[in-house]
Amino acid sequence: MGTGLDTSSAAVEQALLAYCESRREWVVETTLALARLESPTDDKMAVDACGRELRERMEAIGGTVARLPQARAGDHLRAEFGAGESQVLLLGHFDTVWPVGQLARMPLEFRDGRLFGPGVFDMKAGIALGLLAARAVLDVCPAAGRLVMLWTSDEERRSRTSRTLIEEEARRSRAALVLEPGLAGGGVKTARKGCAEFHLAVHGVPAHAGVEPDKGASAVHELAAQVVDLQRVRELTPDVSLNVGTMSGGTLPNVVAEEARAVVDARVTAAADMDRVIDFVRNRTPTVPGTRIEVTGGFDRPPLERTAAVARLYERARDIAGRLGHDLSEGATGGGSDGNFTAAVGTPTLDGLGAVGAGPHALHEHIEVDSLPWRAALVACLVVDVLGDGPAPAA
Ligand SMILES: [Zn+2]
Repeated sequence: MGTGLDTSSAAVEQALLAYCESRREWVVETTLALARLESPTDDKMAVDACGRELRERMEAIGGTVARLPQARAGDHLRAEFGAGESQVLLLGHFDTVWPVGQLARMPLEFRDGRLFGPGVFDMKAGIALGLLAARAVLDVCPAAGRLVMLWTSDEERRSRTSRTLIEEEARRSRAALVLEPGLAGGGVKTARKGCAEFHLAVHGVPAHAGVEPDKGASAVHELAAQVVDLQRVRELTPDVSLNVGTMSGGTLPNVVAEEARAVVDARVTAAADMDRVIDFVRNRTPTVPGTRIEVTGGFDRPPLERTAAVARLYERARDIAGRLGHDLSEGATGGGSDGNFTAAVGTPTLDGLGAVGAGPHALHEHIEVDSLPWRAALVACLVVDVLGDGPAPAA
C-alpha cells in the first residue's frame, strides 16, 4: 500500500524478524505482566484489571484504543495501529478459564526454555506477540495500512457479548489472524468444528413406585431412551459428534420421576450440517406415554471451514515461515474459537498463530519461550503481506 517497497520481499521479512528477535525480553515481560493479572471470564473486576494493563501497553506502543464497556462481562478492547483503506484484524481474548488464586497453585515459572503458568498459552503470550508484531510493522513498514486488534473478555464463555463485535470487525478486514494457541508443535488451525449446546427437559407424572406405578410417567426412563436415541445423529452425517455431558432427574427411588434434564454438546465440521443436527435434536418423540420433552439451545459457533481462501492464507503463512526458518504445519481441531465467527462471515481466517506450547486449560499449561519472537515476526510479515495484495474476503 504505497510504501514504494515490495513489501513481500525477503529483505522486509528479515528486517521484521530481526526487529522481533531483538525485542525478546519485551515480549516475555509483556506476557508475564498480562499473566500476573488473573482474568477468569466471570470475574468482571479481575478481567477489567487485566484489560486496563493491556490498554495502557497498547497506547504506549502507538495504538488508538477504545474500551467497549459491558455491564456484566469484562470490557472488550479495540485498538487501531497505522492508517489506510486496507485493514487486517488481529483477534484474541484476555479472559482465561482459571480462577483468581490459581497463580498460587501454578506459579509463573521458567523451566527448560518454557514458561509455565495459568493462561500463558491460552492466550496471553499470543496477545503479547501480537503487540510485538504491531510494533514491528509500525517501525519497519509504517505505511503498510491499518492494523486493528480486537481483544475480548468472554471467549471462554461462548463469546456471549462479543460475537457481533467480532463479526462486524471481520467484515471490514481483508483477513483475520487469530492468536489462539498453536497446535502441538506449533501448527496453525485451518478448520474448527462448529459447536452447539442443547438442553433437554423431560416432564413426567409422579406416582408411588410400588402402590400405583401405572399412574406415573417416568421422566427419567424417558430421558434414558432419548439419550440412546440421540446417538443416531451419526446416521445423518459421520462428521458430527454428540455428547450428553450431564444428566439429572428424579427425587427418590420410590417415586416415579416427574422431571429429568440433560445437557448435550454437538459439533459439526460443515455448516451445511447445522440445520440437520438442530432438527434432529429438537424434534423428539416421547416413548414413555404421558411424558413431554422440551428442547432448547442450538449452535453458538458455526464451523471454521477450510475454504479455498483459508487454504491460500495458510499457504502464504507457510511460505513466510519457511523464509523465517521454520516449518508451519496446519491441522483441524474439534474446539471452537472466535475464528469460527470471522471465517463464517467470509473473511479469510488463520487461527492458532499464537505461541507454541502445550496444555491449554491444564495444570501443565506452558509456552516455548523461543517461539515468541519468530511467531511475532510471522504475524508481522502476514500483516504486511495481507495489507499489500494478500487475501481479501470472497465477497
Ligand atoms: Zn483461547
